[in-house]
Amino acid sequence: MSDLLGQVHAAAGAYLASLSGRAVQDPAALSLLAELGGPLPESGGDPAEVIERLLRVGTAAGTASSGPRFFHFVTGGVTPAALAADWTAALLDQNAFSKISSPFAHEVETVALGWLRDLFGLPESWGGALVGSATFANFTSLGCATHWWGFQHGIDTAADGLAELPRMPVLSSGYVHASARKALQMLGHGRNAVMVCARDGVGRIDLGLMRRHLDSLKGAPAVLIANAGEVNAGDFDPVAEFAGLAEEFGCWLHVDGAFGLFAALSPRTAPLVDGIDRAHSIAADAHKWLNVPYESGFALVRDQARLGAAFGMPGAAYLPGPGDPASGYALYGPESSRRARSLPIWATLAAYGKAGHREMVERHLDLAQHLAARVDAAPELERLADVKLCIVCFRARPRGVADLDDFNRRLGAALLQDGRVYAGTTVYDGRVALRPAIVNWRTTEADIDLFVDVVRELARKMI
Ligand SMILES: *Cc1c(COP(=O)(O)O)cnc(C)c1O
Repeated sequence: MSDLLGQVHAAAGAYLASLSGRAVQDPAALSLLAELGGPLPESGGDPAEVIERLLRVGTAAGTASSGPRFFHFVTGGVTPAALAADWTAALLDQNAFSKISSPFAHEVETVALGWLRDLFGLPESWGGALVGSATFANFTSLGCATHWWGFQHGIDTAADGLAELPRMPVLSSGYVHASARKALQMLGHGRNAVMVCARDGVGRIDLGLMRRHLDSLKGAPAVLIANAGEVNAGDFDPVAEFAGLAEEFGCWLHVDGAFGLFAALSPRTAPLVDGIDRAHSIAADAHKWLNVPYESGFALVRDQARLGAAFGMPGAAYLPGPGDPASGYALYGPESSRRARSLPIWATLAAYGKAGHREMVERHLDLAQHLAARVDAAPELERLADVKLCIVCFRARPRGVADLDDFNRRLGAALLQDGRVYAGTTVYDGRVALRPAIVNWRTTEADIDLFVDVVRELARKMI
């Protein structure tokens, strides 16, 4: 077995060294994917050849999304300590189900959750769950909200479901993320449960409208979703105003802070998440701005007991129940058997500390401002939004082009086809735009400059 691991180790050095120079995607290499198909082998092959093939195809055809020039979606990289710890997680193959299945994984998870609370300035008394993604963190948080809401109506939804209940009112701004809707859909509320209170085409919150909707509920409990870092321009709902309404009307306040929660790390951006400690639940990703490998998200929940109430799994004689001292994190979140995803979180926080992560966030804030300045300086580019955090929303507006939406959509496609840098398009206030997001520790000013140069070059060729 150690020979196979030696193969991976040998390939890793060259691959990691290539990341800062290579294209995000080499379109020609995609033909290699055919080498992995064919029928299921009856008798199997030489494992050394199998791993050699996987590494050869993967290092050529894989997307260099952990490299410094993948600005699509919101995609973090992997710090060295996090990567080594992730390998360790695979090596040890712990089941972080309970204290019995792995006291080690349980303890590291406890420490990692404590450090995350500390990193974001949240009270030690909060509970938490390490999950696979922010989608699952939204699911976990809104699962707790659902249980709380059922309880207000005298129903234990974990035991009896939603059948006896009216529809759960959920209110948010137009910034609400598709994954929060997906979470509501998985929880049985339906993704259309969200009442959007937006005052404009961007989706900014209309607090007066939200208050009127809350008034019309006549005291019935509701759930508010505040969005700390929306995906088009990195803007924030006013969390403290949401908290004020939640307190006045007795609502559950959930904050989707998938990447925006990291604004708390720098005094320059911390005001953007003012009031976040007044939330009942917060969802965030570690595989974005914490720069640990996929799959890694987390939910932080003010009332720790709510996690056990919503996600406990009592009733099997061979399993520990929620109150059992031998129980563990499987009873405080949606998954049962699970890998020790705490290890890379623990390692990156242990290796770089609060200051290291603050420094990284601030470097990205500076890079985003640099990108904004480069966009502003280019006559054929037009910035569409203030840059509050790590996303720059802009479009090309070359002279003489009539259909700018079509042009920018084609520019986005050309960017992906070219492969040197990656960014995605969106529709911002009715206009097709690019929205590069900067959250990878490897990204430098040279990468940002190359990004702008490639966008301008491709736009020029399209005219
Ligand atoms: C990325 C993101 C999500 C979903 O995160 P996944 O990790 O992809 O599940 C949710 N909300 C916001 C604001 C995001 O940026």
